[in-house]
Amino acid sequence: RQYRVCSLQDLIQEAVVLTKPKLKQRMIRLQCHLIEDVQILCNEIEIEQVMVNLINNAIDAVLLLPDKWVDISMIETPTDYNVVVTDAGLGIPLDKQHVIFEPFFTSKKASEGTGLGLSIVKGILDSHDATISIDNNSINTRFTISFPKSV
Ligand code: ADP
Ligand code: MG
Repeated sequence: RQYRVCSLQDLIQEAVVLTKPKLKQRMIRLQCHLIEDVQILCNEIEIEQVMVNLINNAIDAVLLLPDKWVDISMIETPTDYNVVVTDAGLGIPLDKQHVIFEPFFTSKKASEGTGLGLSIVKGILDSHDATISIDNNSINTRFTISFPKSV
């Protein structure tokens, strides 16, 4: 596998471009708060796939809500660069939070979801020494990806 130094902002924007038509068609507002000049060592195709999978899940989650929005933010901490994907949904029950990362777990109809998205996300992030977690302090559904600065 190829790893290159890439702009995290550019990767997120590429994923946004890929999901824009779907967001527009479904009248979902997307806000991005990105930081320039953050470089990470990664396989860019894989990290784009991570972002597309998370955005697609957010799209599915807000589809039937009256107020449809998704927010993607980059946050720098002393140790990590975080990518935070928040959607208008009201979170994921604690007892479901581990099972959603298992391959083939889905709450969608067979024609709409394979249940593979988050297991692929997890596998890709593991291979990058990055982590993904669900934030239970947010009112909304929020996934946080952390890329450690030390790699
Ligand atoms: P799929 O999208 O094909 O169902 P995923 O692995 O991407 O498979 O997601 C597994 C399950 O996790 C989803 O079916 C859903 O129940 C839950 N899930 C994932 N993302 C969200 C989200 N943003 N809001 C609510 N539930 C979610
Ligand atoms: Mg999915």
